[in-house]
Amino acid sequence: MLEFINQELESLKKSGLYRPLKTIEKIDGSKIYIDGKELICFCSNDYLGLSNHPKVKKMAIETIKEFGVGAGASRLISGNTIIHEELEKKIAKFKKRESAIVFSTGYMANIGAITALTDEKDTIIIDRLNHASIIDACKLSKARLQVYSHKDMIALEKILAKSDKYKKRLIVTDSIFSMDGDIAPLPQIAKLAKKYNAITMIDCAHATGVLGENGRGAEEHFGIEGQIDIVMGTLSKAVGSLGGFIAGSFELIDFLRNKARSFIYTTSLPPSICAASIAALEIIENEPQLRKRLWDNIGFFNRRRAAINRDPTTETPIIPIIIGNEEKTMGISRKLFEDGLFVSGIRFPTVAKGEARLRITITANHSKKELEMLSNLLALI
Ligand SMILES: *Cc1c(COP(=O)(O)O)cnc(C)c1O
Repeated sequence: MLEFINQELESLKKSGLYRPLKTIEKIDGSKIYIDGKELICFCSNDYLGLSNHPKVKKMAIETIKEFGVGAGASRLISGNTIIHEELEKKIAKFKKRESAIVFSTGYMANIGAITALTDEKDTIIIDRLNHASIIDACKLSKARLQVYSHKDMIALEKILAKSDKYKKRLIVTDSIFSMDGDIAPLPQIAKLAKKYNAITMIDCAHATGVLGENGRGAEEHFGIEGQIDIVMGTLSKAVGSLGGFIAGSFELIDFLRNKARSFIYTTSLPPSICAASIAALEIIENEPQLRKRLWDNIGFFNRRRAAINRDPTTETPIIPIIIGNEEKTMGISRKLFEDGLFVSGIRFPTVAKGEARLRITITANHSKKELEMLSNLLALI
């Protein structure tokens, strides 16, 4: 009866799509250890290195001493501590919104918000390259899903123009696209939404702590703060901790507390994790030199690429190098691994078939020497 499992596994292996886990034995700044081998890591989303920041770790440890490890219940029962509420206030202030709600992960924030906000009378309109958590949320929602090609504003407008039969129109987009590293044209999206009376929601998973003068995210980057209705983000990337959030109006957040099933029916985050996020957000606000170091590194790497006539591919810390073929991509990733660099190969179903790529992430932790080594090895492919 379970024969289909073996068949499926075999077929994944044959087509180069089988995914084994890699076991990290130790982490030390930009370096990780796998099978006793030291590697420079170019695939972490911990862009500012905050997951290992002494102040962040100290806050987490102190909070464990006071509150224990687990929260013990969901937020609406007895799992809601002053730390959870302090974190939500901190996020609201950071994102310049009236209020915020924290979920256990970013994945759950998208699932909870999108399913709570839409029903069968509505339509959700998304970019083709949106993150899987948004796509899964759309699958769970009863609303009609409509997809426009990547960043194609003409296609978005065409869909909007034909969507007045729906009760609500919700446009959702990544702000920084997680596998391509480019940025959605948010000013145009906000304008179209206004024209066609649609609600806008952006996923700032990779932009939070990274984009904008103060690291507030994509809205700050474009100078359009307050023009997007719903701002989602994660605490698991540049914030270095764990959790997802939605920031918006008082009413929106109050509504989500009552309606978002992935908020209601799950145990709340450990207080220590929330405390770590609070400390990390404070560092993001007070130590802009970390973000400056990140952007210096991105600039340095892109200049090195340009020097060997390779396109500086993006304007963010996520740099995709498209190879195309799945097996070839994984082969290059293995070769880089042998040379001491951990660069992940990304392939179907995370990206479309035939669009396999190396996905490089640059962080504030990397030294110029490490970036140079990466650049030199990539010049050979
Ligand atoms: C990582 C990511 C998420 C999910 O966030 P987690 O906190 O890791 O669950 C959602 N959206 C985008 C665009 C992401 O890159």
